[in-house]
Amino acid sequence: MASLVLPANISVVLLDIEGTTTPITFVKDILFPYIREHLEEYLSAHWEEDECKQDVQLLKKQAEEDARQHRAGPVHSVDQTVHTDEEKAIREVVDNVLWQMAADRKTTALKQLQGHMWRTAYMSGKIKGELYQDVVPAIRSWRRHGLKVYVYSSGSVEAQKLLFGYSVEGNVLDLFDGHFDTNMGLKVESKSYQRIADRIGCSPEDIIFLTDVTREAKAAEEAGVNVAVVVRPGNMELTEEEQSHYHLITSFHQLEMAGSA
Ligand SMILES: [Mg+2]
Repeated sequence: MASLVLPANISVVLLDIEGTTTPITFVKDILFPYIREHLEEYLSAHWEEDECKQDVQLLKKQAEEDARQHRAGPVHSVDQTVHTDEEKAIREVVDNVLWQMAADRKTTALKQLQGHMWRTAYMSGKIKGELYQDVVPAIRSWRRHGLKVYVYSSGSVEAQKLLFGYSVEGNVLDLFDGHFDTNMGLKVESKSYQRIADRIGCSPEDIIFLTDVTREAKAAEEAGVNVAVVVRPGNMELTEEEQSHYHLITSFHQLEMAGSA
């Protein structure tokens, strides 16, 4: 694949995470299974702590709200191994969280507990944020050429900072000038990219956005942002039309600064 020489006016690189800096499998096969596998153990260990109590309180409120809305909820099975009230309460929370995850719900209550569990896992070294090998050296080189680099991901800013703060290459948060999440809007909406440009204090034309998802690339393009679609192992296949329409890169090293080649 040929390299893409950046027009000289571009001063900002905006990066997606999943499928761009990080394999999709990291989220699918590591982050989410971690929650399912360690939920009960985590709740038992932290049950008496204020943060955990608040997380449980929020989940209970959500469950009450779901009951009022007559949403289907988890079916609590009679479990002979559960004896104390605490065990029973923990089992109810486990059932609720697993049910929400299976239904792919995005409630604040669920995200908050997941965020706290991931933080614990990253800080103890049980999980390390995965990065493709070209990511860190390429970003360092862009920065040496004066580019600013931002992240825009559906994962919360807090989750982004954990991934890069506890990555396979250590804490690499110094690579970034800032982080954006869905507080800026959805990634498939073009308004989100205008908002991000406003927040950075530049024009959309000054930005190049790197993503694996063409619906996001299209939205960014509609806002006037330059885009390149990142092709990584395990990413969604592109149609022939998409392949001919977008600049494709398989490595960040393929982005070259004008005059630096
Ligand atoms: Mg992506």
